[in-house]
Amino acid sequence: ATANIGVVGLAVMGSNLARNLASREGNTVAVFNRSPERTRTLLVDHPEAGFVSSESYDDFVASLAKPRTAIIMVQAGKGTDAVISELAARFEPGDIIVDGGNANFHDTIRRENDLKPTGIHFVGMGVSGGEEGALNGPSIMPGGTAASYETLGPILKTIAARAPEDGEPCVTHVGTDGAGHFVKMVHNGIEYADMQLIAEAYDLIRQGTGKTPAEIADIFTEWNTGELESYLIEITAEVLRQVDAETGKPLVDVILDQAGAKGTGAWTVQNALELGVPVSGIAEAVFARSLSSKPAQRAAAADLPGPAQQWQADDADAFIEEVRQALYSSKIIAYSQGFDEIIAGAEQFGWDVQKGEIAKIWRAGCIIRARFLNRIADAYAEDPSLVALVVAPYFRNAVVEGEPAWRKVVATAALAGIPTPAFSSSLAYYDGLRAPRLPAALIQGQRDFFGAHTYKRVDKDGVFHTLWSGDRTEIETEPSWH
Ligand code: NDP
Repeated sequence: ATANIGVVGLAVMGSNLARNLASREGNTVAVFNRSPERTRTLLVDHPEAGFVSSESYDDFVASLAKPRTAIIMVQAGKGTDAVISELAARFEPGDIIVDGGNANFHDTIRRENDLKPTGIHFVGMGVSGGEEGALNGPSIMPGGTAASYETLGPILKTIAARAPEDGEPCVTHVGTDGAGHFVKMVHNGIEYADMQLIAEAYDLIRQGTGKTPAEIADIFTEWNTGELESYLIEITAEVLRQVDAETGKPLVDVILDQAGAKGTGAWTVQNALELGVPVSGIAEAVFARSLSSKPAQRAAAADLPGPAQQWQADDADAFIEEVRQALYSSKIIAYSQGFDEIIAGAEQFGWDVQKGEIAKIWRAGCIIRARFLNRIADAYAEDPSLVALVVAPYFRNAVVEGEPAWRKVVATAALAGIPTPAFSSSLAYYDGLRAPRLPAALIQGQRDFFGAHTYKRVDKDGVFHTLWSGDRTEIETEPSWH
């Protein structure tokens, strides 16, 4: 038993993570894959890693020093369950099984519960950054017990990405059981919203100014020097600058405009619905991908009426600056909503999640890495019980500054017939949140009318019902007595 850590599953993610682990001083890495050919290839390609390899679960488990720690990187779902049962049959109390795949956090909670009686620690661990991140430094979101993190934490710190600002490793113990996979899920949801907002900004500029993708790439490169600085803005410029070798056209013009999805965005929205958290920006981003992928409906609707004339901005430079401000304001809303979901999930499932720490571990290694995350960390450091990010002083000021442009851009888009679901819904959320009075009062009246669902009054305590089908007097009653 010579290895301090093992990796099961040596497809692209697992082999890169294993190589990353092996490249750090102090680690000896045991590797195992169901099909031995994959293991053999890895050993031939990377002799420098000094892997301890096995071709059976028995040998793999025997190669691990105690407490045994193994990271599973296999196909999420049945594959993960299969590997867990093989390891659990051979591990002892105090050993640690880590699932680094993209598991649904409900599965993670179930798996931990199943393993609890055995005394084996189970850690559901979100890993972000794709294959490149796995190799060079991902952002890592482990859940599981605090005790397991004592063993696992120091190892993860050696392989995690490091924040450019202060060199801190992008890993923290997120919370118990499914907390890590939950936070990874919300990370992906925020990623959907951020991408959709950037795509809407591009579309508005292209349609409103007639600039070419390469010219718009320069605009994004410029934006990347300011408060929007982020990996997603940076790669957007790269994608827009790319020319298709075959046709000589901008690549973005030859890519089919139907966006795919692997499901974590949808999970984020499903859970938000269950938790009652309005993540409207994320939901619109997921739905926008769904809409794009309905070619039959889009073809059938293509001749529905829109504005008679192609719209052009009067002052292109001014419009571009307005779009930038609308993008930043909408982005603040998307992140504010995402953190609301983390707060609600933590409450619901009993996790002690440090919001500021989450913002910090997203500063490098992951897809939504951005300068902006330092501001989020600062906001939660100043006020750990902040009720919404958007009301923190820095973000409030940013939105105050961007608000007029944001309104103008959304109104302009509506008049021009350019779809901006994420920009528009973010603004509607903002206006809903700040409204002194909402038409929710009328909804309560309607609910009481048809379902006797009762209502509260602004002027006195108690629960009331109007006898709608009788003489329409009001009676005081118990909540939802019907
Ligand atoms: P895949 O998701 O393609 O899974 C292939 C691996 O799973 C192979 O090693 C395969 O073994 C193994 N496997 C499948 N079923 C079983 C089983 N029943 N028993 C044992 N092993 C099994 O690999 P990836 O490297 O793409 O992804 C690994 C995990 O990481 C997934 O959960 C994925 O969702 C996640 N992921 C995360 C990303 C991120 O950015 N965080 C990006 C991509 C993936 P065999 O060779 O024998 O077939």
